[in-house]
Amino acid sequence: MERIKVAVNGFGTIGKRVASAVSLQDDMELIGVTKTRPNYEAQVAVLKGFPLYVPEGNQKAFEDAGIKVAGNIDDMISKADIVVDCTPGDFGEFYRDKYRAAGVKAIFQGGEDHSLTGVSFNSTANYSESWGAPLSRVVSCNTTGLLRTLAPIDRKYRIKDAYVTIVRRAADPGDSKAGPINGLEPSVKLPTHHGPDVQSIMPWLNISTMAIKASTTLMHVHTVVAHLEGQPTTEDIIDIMSKSPRVRLIDSREGIKSTAQIMELAKDLSRDRADMYEICVWRDGVKVVGDTLYYYQAVHQESDVIPENIDCIRSMCKMEQDPEKSVRKTNASLGISNN
Ligand code: NAD
Repeated sequence: MERIKVAVNGFGTIGKRVASAVSLQDDMELIGVTKTRPNYEAQVAVLKGFPLYVPEGNQKAFEDAGIKVAGNIDDMISKADIVVDCTPGDFGEFYRDKYRAAGVKAIFQGGEDHSLTGVSFNSTANYSESWGAPLSRVVSCNTTGLLRTLAPIDRKYRIKDAYVTIVRRAADPGDSKAGPINGLEPSVKLPTHHGPDVQSIMPWLNISTMAIKASTTLMHVHTVVAHLEGQPTTEDIIDIMSKSPRVRLIDSREGIKSTAQIMELAKDLSRDRADMYEICVWRDGVKVVGDTLYYYQAVHQESDVIPENIDCIRSMCKMEQDPEKSVRKTNASLGISNN
């Protein structure tokens, strides 16, 4: 089978992980990554053997820094079947027009609006909607987390409404610019964009969200309250979660009381970059009272969207029609166990 040629534009927090994940797939070939500046991440890309492409005119700066360049970004785009765009939010329109002009498919990330692509992606909730699409968008880390748990519950016990508070990490661990470094900062523009973002995939879901930025870099934590049409027991909900893809039940009685221990677990599992791709739900924090479901979940913002990007490539490039088979294949490559 000929492998699909995948390029990754933007080699930051998400891009470097997508590139590593693509390089592990036997049905994909990583044909290049991009950097705008000759920094340590550019050196790492070359060290890993990833062909490095840079903006037109920047080649000399890279060569002066001793970093071998394979060409400019347009050269890379022209060689690809699909580009995974991992540039910071708001470059979307500029690059979408470039990809379109080159006749290349493209996946954008959650920093861009749904309207940029018209289709958004989550492996659990709507794998098939991106089938053959020229453009799609893997929703943000928080939205991915909410869809992974809410979609399977909604399928079985229709959710009447859901109220979510997101305690957001202030910055990624490698980012020393952002804050707050000591404090809690509520998002005062309400409701926050997370609810509408979930609705870009589950438009029928009545969901309201608020968010608070906290001085931590490790993970986000969600508190979820949902009213259900069905009348499941707590055990019924735990059963659904235990069978949902890329959802990991953790337990405070086993010592996982906070995001600190979840990150320690990811290290102990010898994951690449100590990533926790699964959404972690506290088993002993799931509770149903009457028609009201309560639970807490933790989201590793740097990595939960990585397996979704791989599945999205398979859907858009018509490589695997069965969502479950793609999820299993991606999981096997990244060391995620199947529920
Ligand atoms: P980042 O800042 O870590 O990386 C962005 C990369 O793009 C950098 O390497 C930067 O040099 C490069 N870049 C900047 N301008 C460019 C340009 N004009 N052309 C090509 N490359 C350019 O950002 P990130 O955190 O990886 O975020 C990327 C996308 O993923 C955003 O849409 C973001 O919202 C989304 N996302 C981020 C997270 C997260 O927690 N970091 C989680 C999920 C989704």
